[in-house]
Amino acid sequence: MGVVYSSARCRFISRSSSINNILQQNDERNQTDKTELDVDLTYLIGKLERLPAYAKKLFELSKLYLTSAAENSNDCKSQSFHMTESAMIGRSEQCQASNELSSLYLFTPLKQKHPLHCGQTFIQWKATFDVQQLAYMCAPSRNTIYLQPLDSFPEVISQFVLPISQLYLSLFQLLQGFCQIFFLGVEVVLLAPVSSTNWTIRSRLSHGRPQLCVNDFFPLLGSRLPNNGMGLVGILWTDLYPEGFNFVLGEASVYHKSAVVSFGVDTSEDMTQVSGVLVWRLFKTLTHEICHLLGLTHCEFFSCAMNESISISQAMSQPLVLCPVCLRKVQHVCGFDVLERYTKLHHFLLNVTKQLDGDLSQFNQTIQWLHNCILYVTH
Ligand SMILES: [Zn+2]
Ligand SMILES: [Zn+2]
Repeated sequence: MGVVYSSARCRFISRSSSINNILQQNDERNQTDKTELDVDLTYLIGKLERLPAYAKKLFELSKLYLTSAAENSNDCKSQSFHMTESAMIGRSEQCQASNELSSLYLFTPLKQKHPLHCGQTFIQWKATFDVQQLAYMCAPSRNTIYLQPLDSFPEVISQFVLPISQLYLSLFQLLQGFCQIFFLGVEVVLLAPVSSTNWTIRSRLSHGRPQLCVNDFFPLLGSRLPNNGMGLVGILWTDLYPEGFNFVLGEASVYHKSAVVSFGVDTSEDMTQVSGVLVWRLFKTLTHEICHLLGLTHCEFFSCAMNESISISQAMSQPLVLCPVCLRKVQHVCGFDVLERYTKLHHFLLNVTKQLDGDLSQFNQTIQWLHNCILYVTH
């Protein structure tokens, strides 16, 4: 995650017909740029011929970023894409009020800061990914992500059990289950806990709380990665700090194929339960770091789970879901069907949140977003 990470709020606005209308109107206005727009779209998300129609429909929403950027650069003040946040929320409320759920503005494009080639488009990401695959040609195929609990956890964590679909999941099994759906198509394996007590890890006290240097974990975890591993993520209770910074919830090293995430819980107060807020934090941090291990850099195209952030609160306010550009990269690695994945994510989160206490507003927004997204791609 670099320092922390970010993403954005899930917003549901406008109607699906509106999206299509807007895209169409925009296309008509830019007839002369149509070819250029198509070329840029292919550069952004690659070719989609082999994908089912609903997946194409979803990925093609990436066009929103290009058309929004074009409108900004033309200083065009007409309708559509660069709606302000408040306008978007207003339309969302209108939409909900009129019970028109068939529709949505699923993804919020970010303002373009750089030329398209400066961001990590699908084509750019794939070029690096393909080179790595060439290097592994003679090695066993890498198709597994490993989760590695480290050291001990307080009882409230180690004794936690969540009943779901006639199963009783520990907190780590819950994390594994979520990652298994988020990265549907690759194996996610939960390893038995190990102690890092004898590892050489720098430590310090910050405001009276112990912290461990995240950078020291990378080579040690990387050396434990099995031959079929795409990456290994250490999960620990103790706070982390990266070299030169105060605090980090998680960080990944693509070079070592390893990442570490911590709970980031304020230990000055007794934690009496595993709350929805804590589970949200773990789901977000873990999936963000694993995406880094798959070669994804921070997203500059849309509000997205892969946005960068500079604080925990910013990171936690960002979406749990990926934008179409980042989703295309993860889908290319994992090979999942986008509709199957969204449906499973919706079902899983619905069941999990029934059993959790505390503030579930972000989970509920995500569940609603998934519902709207499934409606959009299937109609
Ligand atoms: Zn990051
Ligand atoms: Zn993204």
